[in-house]
Amino acid sequence: MKLERKVLTNILSKIEEYDRIVVFRHTSPDFDALGTQWGLVEFLKANFPSKTIYSLGYTNVEVGHNLFPNSDEVSDEELKKAPFLAIVVDTATSKRISDDRALLASYLIKIDHHPNVDPYGDINLVKDEAGAAAELMTYVLTSKVFKKYELTKDAAKYLYVGVIGDTGRYQFTNTTKDTLKAGAILMEYGFDLQKEVHNPMYLKTLKDLEVQKTIMSNFKISEKGVAYYHLSDEELNRLGIDSDEAKIYMGMFGSLEEVPIWVCFAEDKREGNYRCSIRSRDVVINEVAAKYGGGGHKQASGARPKNYEETLALIKDLDNLL
Ligand code: AMP
Repeated sequence: MKLERKVLTNILSKIEEYDRIVVFRHTSPDFDALGTQWGLVEFLKANFPSKTIYSLGYTNVEVGHNLFPNSDEVSDEELKKAPFLAIVVDTATSKRISDDRALLASYLIKIDHHPNVDPYGDINLVKDEAGAAAELMTYVLTSKVFKKYELTKDAAKYLYVGVIGDTGRYQFTNTTKDTLKAGAILMEYGFDLQKEVHNPMYLKTLKDLEVQKTIMSNFKISEKGVAYYHLSDEELNRLGIDSDEAKIYMGMFGSLEEVPIWVCFAEDKREGNYRCSIRSRDVVINEVAAKYGGGGHKQASGARPKNYEETLALIKDLDNLL
């Protein structure tokens, strides 16, 4: 992946300049958001032991069975007591930063792989051709500009989790030769792929089977072949999952020949709307997502339809794409 030397030099000089660095990611974090964040945090802690490094963001979902440490808890007072550098990863818009205190930073660096609809950073390193933010971060931290610093085994493991999380273990259309190369670079650091990565990310439980059973009995197929399911607040409670976790089960529709687009709707009582995830094999779906309070990638987007009727309207709009 081609990265501009000047941008990398500017990023590194800001990292070297600030004594306090805070790393942020997006709300409802997934493997890539957390993997990129913790990969960078581990790298910074290992190479700059005298600096204060915080990892912030509200975690309301357990992604990957204790794969990641918990976010730091930092009071407003503590955060404001001296200037800090914020590095925000995998987050397309400032609205989606988990913990908007990132905007209090004296200097902000955005490192992301979504379409750059909101260049909110003082530096914006955005490569939407990267399959994962962690892929981009891998090339940053192992670049010539960063060569006097070391990536640790844990940092490499976290980044690897991000790379395979967002590319579905190199199966999605966002996978490129650079994605595979990033995976190979990271594996050199010697983490145990099975025990430290695949097991915590992908081992299922009987509870998962129960959720799948519910989805299998309730999913619908639209006129043009969009597969979709709703999980109400009541069902989420019965199944013991959060609205952020409902999308984990979408993958099973991705390999159906007759289904070009698949969608999950989980009622979010807290927000008073639906948390929606949309995936497609090759149709571009992010404009429909944007119409319903969301956005994202061409083949993997999220949205926030306001009520049940809007969820059905969204399906109609997807049908119209087909
Ligand atoms: P998800 O379905 O949550 O895995 O999200 C898929 C992609 O869409 C991710 O890259 C998200 O960053 C993006 N996305 C999800 N929800 C939203 C939203 N409400 N607004 C903008 N982008 C979103």
